[in-house]
Amino acid sequence: MSKAAKLTAVRKRILDELVCPLKDAATNLVFGKGNPDAKIMFLGEAPGKSEDLQGIPFVGAAGKELDKLLQLIGLTLDDVYIANILKYRPPNNRDPTPEEIRNHTPYLIEQIRIINPRYVCTLGNYSTKFVMSSFSVDGMKKMPGITSLHGEPQEIDIGTLHFTLYPLYHPAAMLYNPKLRPELEMDIRKLGKLLQTKQK
Ligand code: URA
Repeated sequence: MSKAAKLTAVRKRILDELVCPLKDAATNLVFGKGNPDAKIMFLGEAPGKSEDLQGIPFVGAAGKELDKLLQLIGLTLDDVYIANILKYRPPNNRDPTPEEIRNHTPYLIEQIRIINPRYVCTLGNYSTKFVMSSFSVDGMKKMPGITSLHGEPQEIDIGTLHFTLYPLYHPAAMLYNPKLRPELEMDIRKLGKLLQTKQK
């Protein structure tokens, strides 16, 4: 079975069997976009309003910034895969509850396992801490934050999952705090250089 077909099967399982109150409030499932064979996967926190309406991750203001960052290093949607921890929008963009994250985690891990990326670029504090703690909601509280980790590759090895975590500031954070823009651009350029050197 192709990676695309395997991903479609996981998406269908979320629709059919995931029990989560977020489902009732959301307009659409927001599963992922991009190339299932990509070596780079970007991971955000949860869909926002535009994503919920279109059923596609990172199509709103933060997504437009992410597109521009990818262009800086010559990448397009053909080179990357983009998803969120949560596949349904929390009402009014509130923080996800630990229970909601736990409900979604098995599907996220399967999604990453199928794509098998060389790099997982977490966007923002939340997804960085979650991946750093090996996808444990309880463990993430103890993790260092994005301010100290951004632009620093971390090797992640959890059973059969191996990848390099590359933490990045969330593009939405840069919109609120323009001082983060040069740092995020520098980190993306560093990712571009890493991609040219490291082979899987
Ligand atoms: N922010 C996220 O973390 N994910 C999206 O899909 C959009 C905004």
